[in-house]
Amino acid sequence: MSRVHLDHNATTPLRAEARAELLRAVDALRGNPSSVHAAGRAARAELDDARERIAAALGVEGEEIIFTSGGTEANNAAIFGGTPKEAPLFIGALEHSSVHEAAEALKEAGRAVHTLSVDPSGLLDIKAMKAALEGQKAGLLSVMAANNELGTISPLEEMRLCLEGLSSASRPLWHADCVQMLGKRRFAPREMGLDMASFSAHKVGGPLGVGVLWCAKSAALSPRVVGGGQESGMRSGTENLPAIAAAAVAIELAVAEQELYAERTARLSASLWKEIQSSIPSARLLGPPIESAARLPNTLCVLLPGADGRVLVPRLDLEGLEVSAGSACSSGSIEPSPVLLALGHNEADARAALRLSLGRDTTEEELRLAIQILRTTCG
Ligand code: PLP
Repeated sequence: MSRVHLDHNATTPLRAEARAELLRAVDALRGNPSSVHAAGRAARAELDDARERIAAALGVEGEEIIFTSGGTEANNAAIFGGTPKEAPLFIGALEHSSVHEAAEALKEAGRAVHTLSVDPSGLLDIKAMKAALEGQKAGLLSVMAANNELGTISPLEEMRLCLEGLSSASRPLWHADCVQMLGKRRFAPREMGLDMASFSAHKVGGPLGVGVLWCAKSAALSPRVVGGGQESGMRSGTENLPAIAAAAVAIELAVAEQELYAERTARLSASLWKEIQSSIPSARLLGPPIESAARLPNTLCVLLPGADGRVLVPRLDLEGLEVSAGSACSSGSIEPSPVLLALGHNEADARAALRLSLGRDTTEEELRLAIQILRTTCG
């Protein structure tokens, strides 16, 4: 049976170039990049090279790149290590659990945490953001660049202008979870005025278990993982060098191909949505309108009134279509989507939305099959 994977926001297949680099590096590298002998120096040279290449792709400097175990750890490092003492943390209402839960932990420890509101399509309310930040002591602001479920892209330029309008005593450090943004729309974290940004290699055809936290030299960060002092003391632990080398290849390619990716996936997801609408007339698209520039080109979050993701996702899977609904926790059970609950949807609706996320290799043929399966299963 042919299977169709429309869950690329969860993870993407390892692309051939990254796989080749992973295998080369596993065979070629014997040393620990922190060792001083020849094998260690060779490993260090490769690590520095991967760091510089990722930095160049992101338009930042190599010494500002901190390797982590993934997007989750990069977000945790930014929130726990980047929120100044005695100053507030501001997060968006729809953040990924790795930001949201870190903020909850700070709150439980007695720190001031404020949640910034969004409109029904998930867009940050800039006026509310300005009102929340004005007059506050400069802390940390963390709002995701793009939402993993809705596909909503944050108004980064308006946020930058809003932050520039604040007095320096109130202007916070600005972090963005860019895990879903990378390679999908053009963006350059420093140019946009960010101080910190998180990325994850497995969302762009790289291996699992490699994340990047970009932290501008001017931003103060304290380490969360301490020990041997790797990553300029900001994240101890011997680096996973073969995976990092492969991540560099995947990130470079994702950035180089982002316009092509955006054009292709936007066209395919628009036609998929059109087909869904005609096959399942009760379906509703959540997030910004399909033609909006404020939406990730590859992501459709579709509400199917009366559906239940706990039943529907396994049924679709049996038919050969891989999608997600709500939030799958590590035990594999499907909880109602925290994003939709935060937007004010009731529990039934928060269980009734399917997320279909296309990848760089998704074909028209696969989408035809996906529509057939959706029509027979949900129509
Ligand atoms: N942030 C967002 C927006 C995500 O979608 C994800 C993963 O789904 C993460 C962070 C976590 O990344 P990782 O799986 O590399 O820990």
